[in-house]
Amino acid sequence: MTAASKVTYTSANVDLDAFHSQFDDALVRIRSQSGEDHLLFIDGAAVAGSLGPILDTSPIDVRIVLGRFAAAGQAEVDRAVTAAARAQRVWARVPWQERVACLRRAAALVRHRKFDLAALMSLEVGKSRLESMGDAEESADLIDYYCSQMEDAGGFRRTMAAMTPIERNTDVLRPYGVFACISPFNFPLALSAGMSSAALVAGNAVVFKPAEDTPWTGLKLYEIFREAGLPPGVFNYVSGRGSEMGDALWQHPGIDGVVFTGSKDVGLNIYRGLSRGWVKPCLLEMGGKNAALVMESADLDAAAEGVMRSAFGLQNQKCSATSRVYVHRAVAAPFVEKLVRQSKGMKIGDPTERDVLFGPVINERAVARFEQAAAQAGREGKILLGGRRLTEGRLAHGHYVAPTIASVPLSSSLFRDELFVPLLVIGEVPDLATAIGEANKAEYGLTAGIFTRDPAEIDRFFDEIEAGVCYANKRTGATTGAWPGAQPFCGWKGSGSTGKGGCGPYYVAQFMREQSRTVITESGR
Ligand code: NAP
Repeated sequence: MTAASKVTYTSANVDLDAFHSQFDDALVRIRSQSGEDHLLFIDGAAVAGSLGPILDTSPIDVRIVLGRFAAAGQAEVDRAVTAAARAQRVWARVPWQERVACLRRAAALVRHRKFDLAALMSLEVGKSRLESMGDAEESADLIDYYCSQMEDAGGFRRTMAAMTPIERNTDVLRPYGVFACISPFNFPLALSAGMSSAALVAGNAVVFKPAEDTPWTGLKLYEIFREAGLPPGVFNYVSGRGSEMGDALWQHPGIDGVVFTGSKDVGLNIYRGLSRGWVKPCLLEMGGKNAALVMESADLDAAAEGVMRSAFGLQNQKCSATSRVYVHRAVAAPFVEKLVRQSKGMKIGDPTERDVLFGPVINERAVARFEQAAAQAGREGKILLGGRRLTEGRLAHGHYVAPTIASVPLSSSLFRDELFVPLLVIGEVPDLATAIGEANKAEYGLTAGIFTRDPAEIDRFFDEIEAGVCYANKRTGATTGAWPGAQPFCGWKGSGSTGKGGCGPYYVAQFMREQSRTVITESGR
């Protein structure tokens, strides 16, 4: 495949034969590496974990053991933070151009290994082939994009105005120190690579904790950074369980800041507890309850396809997934008919297979959440598609649930609570104002989409919707598909803490603090 055939989450024009054949080869390689034991990596050395290891199984078939991963406890966290603090003092003094060069090598390595990384994510997360390749490609682009931010800003050092002829004033952005980087399961490479590369290129060291369900992808990122030339201790890999060692990590006194992507509950808990003696940076990207609005003038085929893709891509386990639709009552019946018909056409099954679009959810907890929500939808309204766990044939060994669409009253909590499972709720509205009002009732404000042929409605939607990533008439995904440098990904309200998102032009600067330097020159004497 050439660079021109890069796979994004909304790819077309890809040479699929070449893609699939390389993906097949990568699957063989990754499967042959499965089942091994893995350690933590602290200060460049392999370290055993003090807690019981994590058994990493595939959600496609839990009999497939991908590996056994060491689980860090308080002692390893302590060791990692200490090592990171020591290494950071040297790393911060490395000229920023060298830090950029190192991270650009990491981006190149991600691109070089993208098929293996994608095959691994397909097995570890249950992503379809194109979704997992999108994750790998985005990871490389994120690293490069954040490197460009250092370059464009000249290392974030600039000459300032002189208030007298005898002074020289410089403004410098400098790293904070050690960041805890905590990532979720659903984009185990892109989000881990994005958050950590921004922290690193700015001159921080990182203690990285991948999600319990995706330690192997996290380890691959560690290996890439190491091979790219990051000095020992600058990036430390501490796999572990959030419930066991998460608090010890972000509460560690040697942690100077936290960059976290995950659920609102975990993120807000960190935010509330992080700053004690002084305020520490806490960069949170959190959940979503993303709405698509389908208005009277919409192209209903485009709307149905866009909603289907965003609701059921990665089984709705994207923070940007469409999980609710407000449809104008005049077009509700034909829209729903098209949406249900298109969704029925998706092939469900093992997502490592080339034509499967819809795979398993991540774990049993997600299945239980789905079953509870589907039962609620059945009680409160009407299930239009799906509604149950899938256990036929090979599916019995994985975490499979049916893509589900339900019509429920607008007052239902299913319109407001993030579920992160493939349950899409639909409500009818009389007009745009009601649709926007309902959409804004959720505590979240991540992505939103509208389908309408009326430019005035698009303008009003952009002006009034409370969400950071907004799309109009996006057939390839109503609310999904953001890409570095194209769609900054900033969560509003309960979806984020910073007001400046990943994938956006202001991201890297957030990992630094400003220092003003005034020198009174000799000539002033
Ligand atoms: P999660 O349960 O909140 O976990 C996220 C990370 O936090 C994991 O590494 C988890 O570790 C860790 N964690 C758990 N408890 C912790 C604690 N007490 N202290 C420190 N860390 C702790 O989220 P998830 O299920 O992995 O991911 C799904 C969520 O992420 C959804 O809410 C989704 O919307 C959100 N998300 C947001 C974005 C965005 O850009 N806004 C992107 C992707 C995902 P364990 O896995 O070991 O428990």
